[in-house]
Amino acid sequence: MTPPASNLNLPPAWRKLRDTARAARLNAYSPYSKYRVGAALLASSGIIYPGCNVENASYGLTICAERSAVCSAVSSGEKNIMEICISLTGTPVPCGACRQFLYEFNPDMIVLLDNLDQEDVPPEVVRLSDLLPRGFRL
Ligand code: ZN
Repeated sequence: MTPPASNLNLPPAWRKLRDTARAARLNAYSPYSKYRVGAALLASSGIIYPGCNVENASYGLTICAERSAVCSAVSSGEKNIMEICISLTGTPVPCGACRQFLYEFNPDMIVLLDNLDQEDVPPEVVRLSDLLPRGFRL
């Protein structure tokens, strides 16, 4: 049996990360924008933490999927984040706020950009330091 095209050249660990992000996206709370985003991050413990966007009527309190996943991991005692996958339609790059939020935990984090408009194409793989080359640090 031939695997789906979306799984070609995608290591099993990244496939699991991508699948978790896609599943988390389905839990997004986005009644205002109707725009769903899923994320999944891999901590150094090997545990994967999902995240989704959670909107709020005040708009400004909305939290992105990436930050949601980080809060889930940190709430469980994880602070060493190795990789994150972001799944959405359109351009799957983290917003500026999320780039800085992720930078706090690992500037060299591997970021998988999963564009659901091209489900059969493996996620683009970049380093966070390429998306945010001079992030803020104290
Ligand atoms: Zn964001």
